[in-house]
Order: sequence, then C-alpha cells, then structure tokens
Amino acid sequence: MKDINQTQFVQEVLNGGVVAVDFYSTECPPCEALAPKFDNMAQLYGEEIKFVKIYRQENRELAEKLGVNGSPTVLFYKDGQLVGDKLTGGIKRSELIKNLDSLITKEKATAIHNSIKPTVTEFDTIILGGGPGGLTAGLYLCQARVNAVLVDIMLPGGQVSTTHKVSNYPGFVEPQPGFMLAHYMSEQTKVCGTKYKVAVDVTHLDLKNKTLVVDEHETIKAKKIILATGASPRYLGVPGEKELKGNGISYCATCDAKYFHDKEVIVIGGGNTAIEEAEFISKFAKKITIIHQFAKLQANKEAQEKAFANPKIEFVLETEPRGFERVASGIKVLVEDLKTNQKRTIQADGVFVFVGMKPNTDLITDAIEKDQWGYIITNEDMQTSIDGVYAVGDMRSKKYRQITTAVADGTIAAIAVTRELDS
Ligand SMILES: Cc1cc2nc3c(=O)[nH]c(=O)nc-3n(C[C@H](O)[C@H](O)[C@H](O)COP(=O)(O)OP(=O)(O)OC[C@H]3O[C@@H](n4cnc5c(N)ncnc54)[C@H](O)[C@@H]3O)c2cc1C
Repeated sequence: MKDINQTQFVQEVLNGGVVAVDFYSTECPPCEALAPKFDNMAQLYGEEIKFVKIYRQENRELAEKLGVNGSPTVLFYKDGQLVGDKLTGGIKRSELIKNLDSLITKEKATAIHNSIKPTVTEFDTIILGGGPGGLTAGLYLCQARVNAVLVDIMLPGGQVSTTHKVSNYPGFVEPQPGFMLAHYMSEQTKVCGTKYKVAVDVTHLDLKNKTLVVDEHETIKAKKIILATGASPRYLGVPGEKELKGNGISYCATCDAKYFHDKEVIVIGGGNTAIEEAEFISKFAKKITIIHQFAKLQANKEAQEKAFANPKIEFVLETEPRGFERVASGIKVLVEDLKTNQKRTIQADGVFVFVGMKPNTDLITDAIEKDQWGYIITNEDMQTSIDGVYAVGDMRSKKYRQITTAVADGTIAAIAVTRELDS
C-alpha cells in the first residue's frame, strides 16, 4: 500500500495498470471505518491490483479535478480509465470486493475468495445497532469495563444522523444539527473503548447461541446481545412507490429537501414527523401539499399551529394516495377522496412519505416475543423472552419513541447486562 500525492498520480495511477485509490482525511470516522477494510483488501488482492491512498486535505486540486468531494472516496482505475463504482461514505467490504472482482479474471477472484480465512472473535456483549440506544449501551458497558463490540450495517448515529435539527435533547441550549449530535454520541462511546464494526453486512444472527456473522467470514460470539436496530420508515405499498423510491419519492427531508428549491412538493402523512418535516421542506420548496387520511392532523398542537400559519402549506384531508407515476414534469399522485370515493391526480416535483415506522427485525430468525406490530417485548430491564438477549430503543414495544427514551433504554440494558455478567 502506497501513500501518494497529486504529482505522483499520473505515474502511479493513470500509468499503473489496475489500481484502487482511497482518498482519505484525518478526523473522519467513515475513513477510520474504511481503513482496516482497505488494508485487508490490499492483502487479499495486492498481487493483482495496486492499492494507493491519497490524503485529500493536502491534494485538494486533484480531488476537485476528479470530483472527489468527500472522504473517504474510493475510485478504481484500469489502464488509465476510471471504472466501476465511485464509493463514498460508509463503504462496505462487499462493495469493495464487488468492484475489485470486476477488475480481475473470474478464476483469480475465486482463488482470492477461497483464500479468505474465517475468523472468530469473542466479546462479553454484542450491541447490534449504533443509534442512540446502542451507543448509550456501548458507553455504559465500556465505562463498566465490559468488553463490548458495536455492530452496525451503516455508520453509527441511527435516525438522528438524518434529522435536521434536534431541539429536545437535554444539555444543548440551541437546537443541534442531528448529524452533530449523532457524531458526539458516537465519538464518546468509541473514545471510551467500545469496539466498532460498522458499515458491515450482517449475514447471520443466532440469538440463542449469541453468535453473529459479519461480512460472511467473521464470526463474533458473546455472552449477551443487546438489540438496538431501531425502526425504518413504513412504505405506503401502492403502485409506483417502489419504482420511484429515491427517484422522486423520499422518506428523509434532511437528505432530500434541498433538491426542491423553489419547487412543488407533496408530503404524505399527518403525524409529528410529517408536519415537522413539511415545515422544514418549506424552507426550500415554494409550495407543499400535505395529504392526510384523517379529517384532523395527528401532530402535536405546536407543530400544527406552525403548519397552519405557513402560507406555503396546503392541506388535502380525508384523502389517501393510490399510486404514483413519473411524468416529464414530475410525479403524478393518484389520490382517493375517502368521503366521496372520487379519484383524481395531484402533481408535484417530488413526494415525501412520512406514514410511520416499522421495527428493523428482519434479521431475527429466533422465536422471540413481539407485539402485534412486530416490536420486541421486554421487561423493565430490557430483557427479551430469550435469555441474555436485550432490546432497546425504537425496535422495542413501548409507547414513546424518542432519542431520550432510546438513550434511557440503552442505559438500563447496559446496567442490567453488567450486573448479570458480574454475578
Ligand atoms: C425524521 C425524524 C426526526 C426525528 N426527530 C426527533 C427529534 O427531534 N427528537 C427526538 O427525540 N427524536 C426524534 N426522532 C426519533 C429518534 O430519532 C429515534 O427515536 C431514535 O433515533 C431511536 O434510536 P434507536 O437507537 O432505537 O434507533 P435508530 O436511531 O433507528 O438506530 C438504529 C441503528 O441500527 C442500525 N441497524 C438497522 N438494522 C441493522 C442490522 N440488521 N444490523 C445492524 N445494525 C442495524 C441502523 O443502521 C441504525 O444505525 C426523529 C426520527 C425521525 C425519523
């Protein structure tokens, strides 16, 4: 593995045959998460592919010329040509492997795959999920000298990372950008000493035997497991939604509202998230139409008052979406008036869907007690129906799902786990 600078780029990369290039920065948690994966890839593929690293902060001119705007960014070159995917953010081992395999022959790729030795590591506790619940559990466990590993399929932070501003987390007078709050939480737990395995593929989970497999070859065993995988947006399940997801239909205002500057947007939903996010989108869009199935909004009074006073927001109540269609000038939403059963279309440049959440429990194959909506039932110590397995945060059956309640669950589970391990 070579660290090169922009003056060496032509010689080392463009004239260098098959090359994988990692643009990295310091004080960059996603770069830290990538570094061991990139090193491991260099060991596995090093005879076939050249691996180089470029420190982005000192080679900005080259980075800008190549359209590398963030760290880490991994690029692949073959005979001087850029090929494959441009990987950024929480880069997974599987994404690296897919691109590296495409640069060599099938036989060589198979031989490399066959040479990968499975590993087994042991911890006292596995925390699955790095949102506020999992991160707080990790903090309390490491402060209690419990050897814990936190595993996440993404970078840590959970839903907070994509929340525009958080104004109700104690300790901050001014509302905090969600990604900063998530960053502080994650760094605090990491600096304390909890091990991180993030941006990985979780390929197998056996709760009864407290075993987890990541990236297909790495088995992690523990005495206890804390589940903290949170919840994801619910889909409407109407025609066209799947096809237009990420291509006109969004579930995250923080991520996508900026693309609708001076445009018209439809927001579907009438709860707190829908109304608060509509308010946020109105900073960008010129018109927002909120479509809601009931005659009254479900959001809290303060959010409702703000939305009703916002001249950019209109309401279409007692109406449900029945389908989406991409048209040249945007997206057509087929809606049904629930009072008259009349159908009509409403058009906008984009659609945001906020119709609730569902627990992230797909990975669980063990029989575990859940409520009627699929959320995991625990006792007051966060213990589930499986011995030694705990559940915290939004995936747990409970009435209120907030950052503070996830943090409280994580605290309780970690203290309970520590006591059990000590006894
Ligand atoms: C748009 C929006 C705005 C919000 N605003 C606020 C607010 O202002 N104030 C407030 O208090 N709350 C707010 N919330 C709610 C708050 O974000 C959640 O209650 C809180 O994040 C829940 O924390 P958690 O740790 O349970 O789960 P999450 O934050 O959902 O984190 C779960 C983690 O688990 C990981 N994961 C998922 N599946 C797997 C798997 N199979 N294996 C490993 N890891 C996995 C995810 O990648 C994620 O990092 C908001 C939520 C949304 C969606």
